[in-house]
Amino acid sequence: MTKRIIIVGGGYVGVQLAKAMDSKAEVTLIEPRSHFVHAPAMIRAVVDPQILDQGLIPYDDLLKNGQVLRARAHSITSAGVTLDDGTEVLGDYIVVATGSNNATPFKPTSDSIEAFRADNARIHAMLEAAQSVAIVGAGAVGTELAGEIAHFMPDKKVTLISSEPSLFPTMPSKLGTTLFGKLNDAGVTTIFGVRAENLESLTEPYSGALELNNGDKIAADLIFPVIGSRASSAILDTLPGISKGGANRVKTDPWLRPSDLPNVFAAGDVAESGDAMTIVAVSRQTPWLEKMLTSLINGKKVEETAKYKPWGKAPFLVPLGPLKGSSFLVLFTAGDLMTRLMKGKDLFVSKYRKMLNRT
Ligand SMILES: Cc1cc2nc3c(=O)[nH]c(=O)nc-3n(C[C@H](O)[C@H](O)[C@H](O)COP(=O)(O)OP(=O)(O)OC[C@H]3O[C@@H](n4cnc5c(N)ncnc54)[C@H](O)[C@@H]3O)c2cc1C
Repeated sequence: MTKRIIIVGGGYVGVQLAKAMDSKAEVTLIEPRSHFVHAPAMIRAVVDPQILDQGLIPYDDLLKNGQVLRARAHSITSAGVTLDDGTEVLGDYIVVATGSNNATPFKPTSDSIEAFRADNARIHAMLEAAQSVAIVGAGAVGTELAGEIAHFMPDKKVTLISSEPSLFPTMPSKLGTTLFGKLNDAGVTTIFGVRAENLESLTEPYSGALELNNGDKIAADLIFPVIGSRASSAILDTLPGISKGGANRVKTDPWLRPSDLPNVFAAGDVAESGDAMTIVAVSRQTPWLEKMLTSLINGKKVEETAKYKPWGKAPFLVPLGPLKGSSFLVLFTAGDLMTRLMKGKDLFVSKYRKMLNRT
């Protein structure tokens, strides 16, 4: 009998895995939103809303055999998934890929794509009207946002504030120093080693004055809080043997299982598997899941399959707008040209439109 795979969440894991397993099993992808949200494009979309529609990709054409069920999963057992409306979906294997949340307007805050479009339009208008912009948090999203604003709106006064001593201090230093130099050349002011003590919102851009823990005050027409993602792991909370790591992620065993249930797996941002919360991590986990699930379909036990090995050093690409940027490519650190060709120009939009069978 054909095995049934339920995937909860149509983000990077969900879409790639559902497509890969579509001809090998009966696939049900449970996802409440009408469109896949391509996160890297959402940073540029705040500054240049033309890219928004390209990065919001309908699920309609994803699967040839399986189904995308427009619903929110409420709970999980080893027999299947119960939806918010009480419907039960039965399955042999369940993969939880509910991802993470981030600040507006980088990821949607609800299931409505229309509300997300409205958030983008509202914050783009606030950005256009602002003369000064402060970005609190200099991870990849904050740093890229500073670069995008500097490229598309060079007249804005942009300040990037980080509690770290430098940009990307855990990466080889060339990445941080070259990005710092490029931001500096583009007129972005960077402030390191300080914390904003009075952030009024952790999720919504607003206008106000930041009080820093070194005593300084920075007033800005628009303050973007960009302090990182938090996993959407509540659906796993009640499973036996669950334990949480950093950023609300669930810890997994070497076969990406988060609980005592032997046929329930978790991957992507929701799972603390040894990888960072990145698409790059998903690009390693998903082919492994495909292989492992195919072995199970062919009669193997989970423990007879190869364990998942997280990235040691993962590539990390940081565009500063469509032309500039730096990238750690494991063997070396690349500059503007490679960063532009690999990511900055198109932000992988074509790749994900193709994955969802849209041109
Ligand atoms: C602005 C931004 C830019 C980024 N850029 C990059 C980049 O350039 N490179 C990179 O490597 N990483 C990047 N990342 C990180 C990357 O987006 C995440 O690592 C990635 O989205 C994780 O994929 P996922 O499949 O785990 O979850 P997500 O992409 O978060 O998708 C989870 C899905 O699950 C659904 N869901 C949640 N709860 C339920 C439920 N109960 N029932 C059903 N469905 C549910 C959600 O609706 C969502 O569609 C970026 C992140 C942000 C915020």
